[in-house]
Amino acid sequence: MKLVIAAEACLLLVFRSDEVPYPELLSVVVYEGAWKTTRRTPMAGVIAVREAANSGESWSRDLVILSWKDLRVNGVVLHEFAHQLDAADGAVDGAPELPTAARYAQWARIFGAEFERLVARFHRGLPSDIDPYATTNPAEFFAVVTEEFYEQPAVLAARHPELFAELETFYGVDPRTLTASPTDTGT
Ligand SMILES: [Zn+2]
Repeated sequence: MKLVIAAEACLLLVFRSDEVPYPELLSVVVYEGAWKTTRRTPMAGVIAVREAANSGESWSRDLVILSWKDLRVNGVVLHEFAHQLDAADGAVDGAPELPTAARYAQWARIFGAEFERLVARFHRGLPSDIDPYATTNPAEFFAVVTEEFYEQPAVLAARHPELFAELETFYGVDPRTLTASPTDTGT
């Protein structure tokens, strides 16, 4: 179990040059299966409250919770560890730690526009190739597009080239070919 989880978690870092992987992460709790949670989603002026099955959580920099049964069937490890990278700069806001103010500005411009476009499509009932759970907030958007970056890179590159390029620079890899790309953490 440790090996399976670590291998996928490290896929996010293997082409970067972080000195210590997930430096503040202390515990990975593994449940046998999904657990029940109450999900609150803002929709057109009201809050929709519904019970949902949860297969992963990452609330703080020191803890990740995963459902073992769900690990193999969806990108839950990539998703939750993307939240860990997002939290590294102290805020889970959809922007991970970036080296310069210019890179933050570019990230905010591209991710902000893509997020707003997806939310607008969702509210008009239009389909999208990005999982609608990404409309929850910018942090979920980053975690969901990280999954899609690794799991269906050709689709993401073709339909969201700027978003793909930002993720390629951040993760330091083109997952279509698994070849290294210039990264922000480059030494
Ligand atoms: Zn999430």
